[in-house]
Amino acid sequence: MKVFKFGGASVNSADAVRNMAQIVQKHLESTPLVVVVSAMGKTTNLLEKLVPGVSSKEEAVALRQQLEDYHRGIATALMPDSMDVQGDITSILSRFDTTTKLLRAKDDYNYNYDQTVSFGEVLSTTIIAHYLNVIGIKTMLADARQIIITDNHFREGHVNWEFTQGTCRLMLDAARGYNVVLTQGFIGSVKDSNQTTTLGREGSDYSAAILAYCLDAESVTIWKDVPGFLNADPKFFKDTVKISQIPYNEAIELAYYGASVIHPKTVKPIQNKGIPLYIRSFITPDGEGSAVGNYHAISPETPLYIFKNDQILLSILPRDYSFIAEDNLQVIFGILNELGIRVNLMQNSALSFSICIDNNPQRVGVLIERLKSMFRVRYNENLQLVTIRYYTQEVIDSIVAGRPILLEQRSRSTEQIIVPA
Ligand code: ASP
Ligand code: MG
Repeated sequence: MKVFKFGGASVNSADAVRNMAQIVQKHLESTPLVVVVSAMGKTTNLLEKLVPGVSSKEEAVALRQQLEDYHRGIATALMPDSMDVQGDITSILSRFDTTTKLLRAKDDYNYNYDQTVSFGEVLSTTIIAHYLNVIGIKTMLADARQIIITDNHFREGHVNWEFTQGTCRLMLDAARGYNVVLTQGFIGSVKDSNQTTTLGREGSDYSAAILAYCLDAESVTIWKDVPGFLNADPKFFKDTVKISQIPYNEAIELAYYGASVIHPKTVKPIQNKGIPLYIRSFITPDGEGSAVGNYHAISPETPLYIFKNDQILLSILPRDYSFIAEDNLQVIFGILNELGIRVNLMQNSALSFSICIDNNPQRVGVLIERLKSMFRVRYNENLQLVTIRYYTQEVIDSIVAGRPILLEQRSRSTEQIIVPA
């Protein structure tokens, strides 16, 4: 059995859904095909603004209308005669209204967030399930909240693997006779409760990997708007090269350094079971794409680039010119952990400790305040962190392009530099 994942961009219009359905139609040789779908287009961003307390009342009314018009528009274009799909949209939206109204009384942002934003995936899969059935693909819509079982860590649910394996098997039994099992990416629920959880932004890839692991799938395919795994983000880099084969470890390294092609948690479950992961283009679906699997090295061999913009470099120095030692580091990491700040690069010297982090103004402000009560803190903003795997000096020089290097770290395979943006 195979698992396919379609992200928001692949289902952001009626034409996109038609194209997605054609891809599904072409791959029904071994059924059921398990299909994981994200919210349509940028719906999750819109829903983030509808979490109670985030927007003003007038803004919220307009956004709520936008949510409705967008989904009804796509459903109408796909199935002009279907009363059923419009009826389902009506009941989902009325549940949405009741849910968000009740949440206003509950002052727990992370909880409220998950109960609100999860409606994007519910809407998208409901419309798509109707459409697949209308065009003759027998589709079972499975609610991911009955399949992906997590703890109650809202906005980043941790999967309960044991229970999720059990629910996955039940889902597969129920799917006998269907061509497709369609389910939502990104969402799950707390065991034995009706509380929805999410797996973190962009978490639908991870959902696909969880299902593949639990169902012992033969492969996972992520359909994207790029022809495969590129050696750099085309937004930052002109002459990208497609990497055809990527070892699991390399994919984990790249996700760690911030490559945005695959969600960081996605690789581990499929690596554990040796399940190959394919990245293919929904724009050119007959193209070969890229494969992550049991390879020894990337192919073709070429430098890989990861750019992170809007970085801030903090240097932390003890007030009394004492050494930066384990006790200081413990305090610093304690604060970082508490604030949920991820360190993109760090460097230690006798008298200072430097960290490069994303410049999230709210969190960084609090961090600096907290650190200043114990240390001296200096910082530089508007920086770019560039990671180059399989570098050559020539490649580094062309990236630096004469800019001053604020910090540099080099290992046998990886060069990291921080430069002004
Ligand atoms: N819809 C969610 C998001 O936009 C999950 C996903 O697309 O992977 O973050
Ligand atoms: Mg996405």
